[in-house]
Amino acid sequence: MASTLNELNPRLLWKHFAKILTIPHCSGNEKPLGDYVLSVAASLGLPGKRDKVGNVLVSKPATAGREGAVGAILQGHLDMVCEKNSDKVHDFSKDPIQAEIKGEWVYAKGTTLGADNGIGLAAALAVMEDKTLVHGPLEFLFTVDEETGLTGANKIQKGFLLGRMLLNLDSEDEGTFTIGCAGGADSTLTLPLDRKKTASKNLYKLHVHSLRGGHSGLDINQGRGNAIKLLARMLGQAQTAAKFEVISVEGGSKHNAIPREAVALLACPPVQVRSMTMAFKKAFDKIKVEYTAVEPGAAYSLDAVAGKDFALTRDCQRTLLDFLIALPHGVIAMHPEIAGLTETSTNLAIVKTGKAAFEVLCSTRSSVASALEATRGIIISVCALAGAKPDLKDGYPGWMPNLDSPLLKKLKELYIKTFGKEADVVAVHAGLECGIIGEKFPGMDMISFGPTMKNPHSPEEHVHTASVEKFWTFLTAAIDGLSS
Ligand SMILES: [Zn+2]
Repeated sequence: MASTLNELNPRLLWKHFAKILTIPHCSGNEKPLGDYVLSVAASLGLPGKRDKVGNVLVSKPATAGREGAVGAILQGHLDMVCEKNSDKVHDFSKDPIQAEIKGEWVYAKGTTLGADNGIGLAAALAVMEDKTLVHGPLEFLFTVDEETGLTGANKIQKGFLLGRMLLNLDSEDEGTFTIGCAGGADSTLTLPLDRKKTASKNLYKLHVHSLRGGHSGLDINQGRGNAIKLLARMLGQAQTAAKFEVISVEGGSKHNAIPREAVALLACPPVQVRSMTMAFKKAFDKIKVEYTAVEPGAAYSLDAVAGKDFALTRDCQRTLLDFLIALPHGVIAMHPEIAGLTETSTNLAIVKTGKAAFEVLCSTRSSVASALEATRGIIISVCALAGAKPDLKDGYPGWMPNLDSPLLKKLKELYIKTFGKEADVVAVHAGLECGIIGEKFPGMDMISFGPTMKNPHSPEEHVHTASVEKFWTFLTAAIDGLSS
């Protein structure tokens, strides 16, 4: 059994990965790793260049007899997510990542490993260096800052790439081809507020909490509760049974997370407290039954709090609650052909109450541009009805799955030929660099695959060594097969 990375196969790939571990490359600090890629290219006599944002491109000519083949691009991202355990002493700006082999897997000691996307880069570097491979004209594209904003892909200039097929090496399940992703766009909605002095000095905090949350793209099809929506339902139902006044509603923390908790601050005269308490309980009990399977931990609390304030006027309170109840959240459509794939969804992500305005952030995703637009249209219409002002932020494009792609067809055949079984074909309901690259280079045929890794972006990240070997076998078969 191997005890160091350099004893693992394929040797050339692991040699480069071991080197990558010694070069700091957190998002935003990709220059040293870009320098390494360019130095490897220079040592092999291959032309390399770097654009203004730091994306690096290296070209390798076709091997004899394959000069006329369509050019292929191998692509990965230079940056890694830098996370460590709280008890781990590690400076990501200078300390090397310490890898260790545990059985069939490679881990880091207390930090992220950066197998995402270090293994993809190492494979590309190994293809550059390996003189025994057969292939058409190749380009190697290494982008910056994928993890925090897809910045590198966003800033690629037209004409930077010549190839017409792109193999993205940033996937996490060996044997799976990714052929599509969602585009996304955020909208900020502002609802003006009218206030009056509270009728009562008795204030209460209604807190909906302990929901599961999760990623607003990948987990949106799980049917989990959105704390803001549940809180709005409770308030909406209870306001007909008890006379309380809403002072504020707050909830959610990130545009890409399903809100796990939300809080309303209320004023309620003593004679109404019992009715209000009962009404909230009744509303929550119904919700609880509805969410028995997916949100077993969901809970709420109602506590008296100190202070006095200005509450919303009666009309404004109704409008605000109607607004929250009407705003869409969750899956809008599933993909008609790819089982289990969310095509369009929207996340009612964050709400904040100011003195004179209420602000809502909605984050919408779809692999179909017109469906994204239509869903934002629903949000705009709800705003129009409520008297709120929508501010539509620019989004990033999706990558619409093309089940008739010639590249997909060829790679499926090659996978069966190489391993004697079919690869799975999937798409993801989240943003990928291919979405952006595909929009900039129309007609680019793209696919994403990689070795098996678990828990990327966390100190538990680990990569399966045997799957790295299979990934390499397939990658080298692909560049040969695609050029023959
Ligand atoms: Zn990645």
